[in-house]
Amino acid sequence: MFDDLNDLYQQVILDHSKSPRNFFKLEVANRVAEGRNPLCGDQVTVYSLVENEVVREISWQGSGCAISKASASIMTDALKGKTAEQAKELFRNFHDLITTGSSDSKDLNKLAAFGGVNKYPARVKCAILPWHAALATLDGKANIVSTE
Ligand code: ZN
Repeated sequence: MFDDLNDLYQQVILDHSKSPRNFFKLEVANRVAEGRNPLCGDQVTVYSLVENEVVREISWQGSGCAISKASASIMTDALKGKTAEQAKELFRNFHDLITTGSSDSKDLNKLAAFGGVNKYPARVKCAILPWHAALATLDGKANIVSTE
């Protein structure tokens, strides 16, 4: 898939795409948003329980390529417990990383596994898709977001 990604990062992505975390419908969710990437066929629904601007719980369901699934899996792990502001900050750093290949942030942790995606422009949308849906839930928008 990504021959020139280093093995560790590739393993993280493969692991999360094969065994996605937080992959269920969150029954207590008070926000839901769906994202679609028509170019690749990815679709993801993000469920979140947001209280006082804090992501108490977050989950997702959907289908698509390994990158979109791994991104949704790692993202939901990363966003749990974050405030809306922290989530947006994390997205800015993640966006920098996958569009330029580097980020100033030291807080990306497993999200750093996507550092090689910038070499594959068509895959950038796959990686960003779950974030668009998650941020839509933080903004209180219950709608369908599309990368198109
Ligand atoms: Zn995709």
